[in-house]
Amino acid sequence: MVRPHRRPERGVPLKAPASDQKRLLDVQALDTKIDQLAHRRRTLPEHALLTELDEQIGVLRDQVVEAETEQSDLGRELSKAEGDVDQVRARAERDQKRLDAGQVSSPKELEGLQHEITTLANRQGALEEVVLEIMERLESSQSRSAELTAQQTAAQARVAELTASRDTTITELDAEVTQLQAQRASQAGSLDEAMVTLYEKIREQQGGVGAAELRQRRCGGCRLELNNVEINDLRDADPDEVMRCDECRRILVRTAESGL
Ligand SMILES: [Zn+2]
Repeated sequence: MVRPHRRPERGVPLKAPASDQKRLLDVQALDTKIDQLAHRRRTLPEHALLTELDEQIGVLRDQVVEAETEQSDLGRELSKAEGDVDQVRARAERDQKRLDAGQVSSPKELEGLQHEITTLANRQGALEEVVLEIMERLESSQSRSAELTAQQTAAQARVAELTASRDTTITELDAEVTQLQAQRASQAGSLDEAMVTLYEKIREQQGGVGAAELRQRRCGGCRLELNNVEINDLRDADPDEVMRCDECRRILVRTAESGL
């Protein structure tokens, strides 16, 4: 795509040796690499996985507390149900003893007592059913607890594993960045200071790219092809003049590949 010509005010041209301009591209390459490593450090898959695991562990913790509360409730329910069974059994035994001892002589009273013993036996059976049912619920809640605890242990082991892997990668990335930064500092330090200052200002405004190569008539920053007027301007300009892309305002560095 060829854009219509547009010629912004250039003001006093900034000059820097053409060789410095070319070496600015090396500094840009190092800065890009450093930015990529920083991006990688921020977006390591371990970060997201650890956040996810953290949430899972929180949910598991709540579920364990829930299960423990349920078990203590069921424990109380069980004691009460067992107490009910004991009470009914004691009463039935007392009745049976009276019957066995032949203390009851009146047929009506005898019938009443036998009826009560039968009723108590039925009641005891029903209460024992309740006890069994509570015990089953308690058992299933306990096995759920055990399962949740196993899940917690597994999640915590995974956290330890991911943390170790994250830390190893971060250490490696940081070492690489430190090395690149030293290289970058020494390279940028030997270049024209005003040019580097301008480059850094543009880099900040333009998503990390402050200088781009003009390659086959195309700006390496915004990727747009320059029109003939712009190409002529660039060809005619002093090689030591720091040129800017009319479109993206980045420093445009002329090289043998520029197509001028
Ligand atoms: Zn551009």
